[in-house]
Order: sequence, then structure tokens, then C-alpha cells
Amino acid sequence: MDAPLTQQFPRRDGERIVHRTWTVDLAAAGKLLGRGADAARLLREAREMAQHFPRWVLTIALGRDRALCRRCGGLLVFDRGLRCVECGAAMAAPRGALLAWFGVLPPVGLDGLGALAERIAARPPPFHIVGERAPIGRYLLVPLLAHYPAAFPERELRVAYLPGFFSIPGVPADAPNHQVHLLGSGVMCLFAPGEWQPALSCREVLQQRAYAHAIKLLNFAAGRKRAFAIVS
Ligand SMILES: [Zn+2]
Repeated sequence: MDAPLTQQFPRRDGERIVHRTWTVDLAAAGKLLGRGADAARLLREAREMAQHFPRWVLTIALGRDRALCRRCGGLLVFDRGLRCVECGAAMAAPRGALLAWFGVLPPVGLDGLGALAERIAARPPPFHIVGERAPIGRYLLVPLLAHYPAAFPERELRVAYLPGFFSIPGVPADAPNHQVHLLGSGVMCLFAPGEWQPALSCREVLQQRAYAHAIKLLNFAAGRKRAFAIVS
């Protein structure tokens, strides 16, 4: 028997940042997963995420963003059912809510983006984080919401930018856009027709497709209009 999966989330406590840690209630989360996916599939997804994207948390999506605590606006996580990570209130998932992962991509270097780097660093969108460290220099952490559609795994995982990403100068409006592979509602177009494979996991989609999408879209925003024409 493997150790239970835990997740953690930072929260501000006065002047300090403290981390709340909980054991992931996969049974509760599994009730929101697609009818074609079983407990073993969710466990595999969660184990891979714990290894490769350890700061990402399981939550719920409603429409184009996360569904948040009705009391305080905190993130909802699977801790003894569905619960607010900030105030601890237990919540029922609203109708139409989908199981989702929320977290940030690995750093995207900003220093190659010219004048756009200054504009992003001066005013990062909500939940986006700008930092600096050797050897990559200034970087942006792009938050994403990856949600499992009701027909998962027959239908592909959907990975979306948060609304604030579209406030970055040069990023096209949040609407279907073939040139930059967007489907609307922030969702990335990551698969050509017939390209999705039901065995693909969230970890694989993030590593192999979503990260490249974010890099290309930021390059597009910086003026490289052929960013998506280059095969990566
Ligand atoms: Zn709350």
C-alpha cells in the first residue's frame, strides 16, 4: 500500500506565508470524474501530478474558471470531501462542476520577449507570478486550469488560461482563434482531430503540449506572429 497522496497550498497568515497540507480525498474527487474513468485512472493521474507537478492541486472548474468558496472566495480542494482551503468550510460541488487541476507551469523566460517583458514584470495579471533567478533570468509563472470533461477519457482533457492572461499586451482576445490555437473560454487547442489518445494523462498533456502553447503564445504576443507555425 502506497502512502496517501497529500497536497499543499500557500496562504497568508498576517505577514507570513504558511502552507496548509491535506490528504487528497480521491474518493470524493472521483465522483466528479468522467463516467468512463475509474478509481485506478484517477490514482494514476494524481500520482503522476504529485511527482511532476507537486504544487498543483485538485479542485473544481465551473465554466471558464475555478469554482470558489461561496463564503470567502478561497480555492476548493479535496480534503475530507470538498472544502475551502482558506476558511475550511465544507462545500457541495455546484451543478455542472468538473474535476480540475490548478497550478502554474514551469518558468517561462521573459528576457527574450523584448519590451513585453517589462510590461509583464511591471503588472503581472492576477495569479501570475514574475520572478528572477539564474540561469534563466526573469521568468513568468503562468497559472492554468486543466479540467476533465464529462466524457473523459473518450474526450480530451481541456487546459485553459485564467482570464487575466488575456490582459497581457499582445495576447489576442479570449475567443476562438485558429492562428494561436485557442478554442475560446481560455481553452488551448492542443490536439488535431483524431490526435487525442484516451490513455494520455494530465501530466503528459501539460508537459508535452500545454507548456509549449504558453511559450508560443507569449512569443506571439511579443510580435513573433509565426510562433505557432514552428513545430516544436
Ligand atoms: Zn472559504
